[in-house]
Amino acid sequence: MISNSLVELDRAHLVHPLASYRGHEASGVRVLASAKGATVTDADGRELLDGFAGLWCVNAGYGQRALIDAATEQLQTLPYATGYFGLGSEPAIRLAARLAEHAPGDLNHVYFSLGGSDAVDSTIRFIRYYQHSVGRPQKDQFISVENGYHGSSTSGAGLTALPVFHTGFGVPHNWQHKIPSHYAYRNPAGTDSDAIIEASVSALRAKIAELGAERVAAFYAEPIQGSGGVLVPPAGWMKAMHAVCKEHDILFVADEVITGFGRTGPLFACSEDGIVPDFLTVAKGMTSGYVPMGAVFMTDRVYNAIADGAGSAPVGHGQTYSAHPVSAAVGLACLDLYENGLLDNGRMAGARLMEGLHSLADHPLVGDVRGRGMLAAIELVTDKAQKTPLPAASEPGRRIFDRAWQNGLIIRAFNQGVLGYAPPLCCTETEIDAIIERTRKTLDQTLEDSDVRSVLKG
Ligand code: PLP
Repeated sequence: MISNSLVELDRAHLVHPLASYRGHEASGVRVLASAKGATVTDADGRELLDGFAGLWCVNAGYGQRALIDAATEQLQTLPYATGYFGLGSEPAIRLAARLAEHAPGDLNHVYFSLGGSDAVDSTIRFIRYYQHSVGRPQKDQFISVENGYHGSSTSGAGLTALPVFHTGFGVPHNWQHKIPSHYAYRNPAGTDSDAIIEASVSALRAKIAELGAERVAAFYAEPIQGSGGVLVPPAGWMKAMHAVCKEHDILFVADEVITGFGRTGPLFACSEDGIVPDFLTVAKGMTSGYVPMGAVFMTDRVYNAIADGAGSAPVGHGQTYSAHPVSAAVGLACLDLYENGLLDNGRMAGARLMEGLHSLADHPLVGDVRGRGMLAAIELVTDKAQKTPLPAASEPGRRIFDRAWQNGLIIRAFNQGVLGYAPPLCCTETEIDAIIERTRKTLDQTLEDSDVRSVLKG
């Protein structure tokens, strides 16, 4: 009963992110009621393994007492403190300091946002301000990578390179440019890592030459492209792109909203890539999704240029909830968890996840298995030699998501037939094995679909 009335209220009033509004009205909401560890329970009492950690964010898993206590305590002592007027709060200051200590190189200055989109949007403003400060206001062109996702703010959505975020919204802006993705499974340069890196380096160089290096302000990349379908670049890709940017005095922004906080192993994927970007954006795992928070890190050089450029004037960028004390308290408690075993468990569980997914490689529908740590995907095809995607008319995303759900598993099922995995880092081996088994069952059922069967080759 309760569930039914919620469905009606939702249909009438709640506008969902990235939804077909009419499609959602027709199908209705699935209400999640409670969660513990890696398991969520819906309003009908169905228990599901959350193979996607909410939206790749609940890295610590659900019901972590330390996070709940940190939030509760902070709500009781100081539920809000503004960062304006020279004010601050202890948890926000301590979190900034601890993050700076862990971040690669001299990324020592942290601006807190509410999530990833406004973290990215803040970088656009900071970069513009920086270029003015150093006397190069004409450096106002931005480059990002096809298949990339950098949020859905008015400016950030144009750095995002997924058409659904552009159509009807008047983006990308004319100062936002793209180069092709490294997408190894479907790269015209082939599958060889060096060739893929070389192709991306050439594409970036060509784009810079076309725009003029004196016009290019910044380049954005994710260490692993998440929302584009979990596209893992060859080792060395980030480093090679970073080197090209350095050569041309172009700021490098590493968007670690998904990859940060243990998702690929360490706290920051950039440290594995061996680079220190000029800006680094995070969100999601920083508070494990318990409360909203994101952050922009900037290097000493960038921060000092902005500070000197402004002189005694304020830098006109801020938000009421920047450096929110409750979010910061949760962030500190999350760091404690990461440092005291959660990263280690994530690495162990990630290795098992990758091993399990690789064991599905000989399934007739699996064309590609890719990932790093607890961030992975399998790409489904009906013809392995031709890499033919599942028939679009079969709506593979929706169908496979629903089927996995019936099998007690939540995954991200991308429209093009890619299944994404980002389980909580607290997963046990048994839970990882169950994710694999439920995936196998879902694939076997999909193999029986007549529209899939009829086009299957090999
Ligand atoms: N940047 C990246 C790489 C992301 O994956 C996301 C969200 O998934 C964002 C930015 C936007 O973050 P948010 O949804 O918190 O606004």
